[in-house]
Amino acid sequence: PEEQPQPDPSKKTLVVLGTGWGAVSLLKKLDCENYNVIVVSPRNYFLFTPLLPSCTVGTIEHRSIMEPIRNFLRHKKAAVKYYEAEATKIDYEKRVVYINDESPIKGDASATEVPFDMLVIGVGAENATFGIPGVREHGLFLKEVGDAQRIRNRIMDCCETATFKGQSPDEMKRLLHMVVVGGGPTGVEFAGELQDFFNSDLKKWLPEIKETFHVTLVEALPNVLPMFSKQLIEYTEKTFKEETITIRTKTMVKNVTDRYIEAESTGPDGKKILEKIPYGLLVWATGNALRPIVKDFMDQIPAQKDSRRGLAVNEYLVVKGCDNVWAVGDCAVANYAPTAQVAAQEGAWLARMFNQMARTHQIEGELAVLSEKQEKAPSKEARDAVFAEIKDLQKRLRRVKQIGPFEYTHNGSLAYIGSEKAVADISWLSGNIASGGTLTYFFWRSAYISMCFSTRNRILVCIDWVKSKIFGRDVSRV
Ligand code: FAD
Ligand code: NAD
Repeated sequence: PEEQPQPDPSKKTLVVLGTGWGAVSLLKKLDCENYNVIVVSPRNYFLFTPLLPSCTVGTIEHRSIMEPIRNFLRHKKAAVKYYEAEATKIDYEKRVVYINDESPIKGDASATEVPFDMLVIGVGAENATFGIPGVREHGLFLKEVGDAQRIRNRIMDCCETATFKGQSPDEMKRLLHMVVVGGGPTGVEFAGELQDFFNSDLKKWLPEIKETFHVTLVEALPNVLPMFSKQLIEYTEKTFKEETITIRTKTMVKNVTDRYIEAESTGPDGKKILEKIPYGLLVWATGNALRPIVKDFMDQIPAQKDSRRGLAVNEYLVVKGCDNVWAVGDCAVANYAPTAQVAAQEGAWLARMFNQMARTHQIEGELAVLSEKQEKAPSKEARDAVFAEIKDLQKRLRRVKQIGPFEYTHNGSLAYIGSEKAVADISWLSGNIASGGTLTYFFWRSAYISMCFSTRNRILVCIDWVKSKIFGRDVSRV
């Protein structure tokens, strides 16, 4: 059998945790020949999350937005090691990461440790539940491919069960009540996609559910999409109303059972009302929480004591209180929103910095050789010649070292709101353009197509769009 490439002892070992937006944009831009690069992630693919809501109803098939990590790592100039495993603990003192193979097939070796000289943490975040009872048991999240598949199956199961012989009208109503908790972009985009699915396909295939199927979006704050401008919030709420999606703002879910949620709102008399809302499908989209590995790592570093939402990093993305440990994306707190846009820019910036660090190291090595040569030079002419070379190199070194701190450039926010409409707050020159509607929807489509990871992904997504338009979405439950 072919021998596995051995790590080069003269190079530093750079361990990257994760294969999401932050980690992959780092790996894309990194000159891997400068380090022994090791990637650890339980997910052996990159997932283009902005189109994940479309997978919950089959507008897009999930494999179209996945890119195998092996496929792109093999194009790197130097070999990169990938382990399909979950990092379970980072031991900062020992400079090792403990990793476990959590996949169904395990060999004799399924838990080990990986030493590092440099570490990049890009493990993303977990779903927040705020400890609300019953959420994990009965709600479905929308973060990973498996989540989208579960939602797709549950929607169909609810519809088929609702039409079971002898089902009572009340039970039918419950089963066909699709409740989405969280009015951030994930909840809004999913509610929009689900209503689309109903309007263009479900209604046709299952006419008996036409009068009963209903989508409700529950949000604790006074409005949905808080990160968008006021006019787009109003536009979204108006569009949802036209589409008969109910928005329940200022309503906080406090408890979840297998059949209903308990939500608290304020009545017209100012008194709190606790209401039971029956549901068939419950999608929980209330944002991010810390992963246990991040929490554990933060507990090891005194400088992270006061950080609550994630790893506090400085402007060079270095984890505060650490040497040679960086964090990118949703697990890092750098005063930006936890978005793909931020994670991708952080990853790309870090790659540039690592490339420059390697270049600096190389030039410094060359300079050391030259100064020795200068000292040993036999004549003044020879010394002057070496001196000129040193001057040149020093100039190059200064240029290479000129990397400023990470600065995020916000290109805007985009969200699909259903019925072929989207909202966009686009940064333009030093101002902002807010637009919503069908034209914005075409802009949304073209923007996301151009952002897809590979040409293969772009083609597959376009084919899916055409397929679901011509044949309708697939309603089979698997
Ligand atoms: P992720 O992309 O979540 O990647 C984390 C990686 O770490 C994964 O590969 C995971 O498998 C791996 N991992 C997890 N635990 C471990 C462990 N213990 N050890 C090793 N590896 C581990 N943002 C936008 O800007 N625009 C959008 O339109 C948009 N749409 C979204 C739609 C949805 C449905 C969702 C859920 C999010 C959306 N986001 C969007 C947010 C965006 O996806 C996140 O901000 C982004 O994924 C963060 O990147 P990340 O690299 O930090 O984490
Ligand atoms: P979010 O944090 O943006 O929104 C969660 C919402 O849930 C909040 O508005 C919160 O008030 C509400 N909430 C929390 N607890 C609740 C409760 N008990 N009852 C009712 N409502 C409750 O979460 P998200 O939408 O999952 O987004 C996560 C991140 O991903 C954000 O940074 C977002 O910008 C990004 N994202 C972006 C896009 C896009 O740009 N199109 C799409 C999806 C996600």
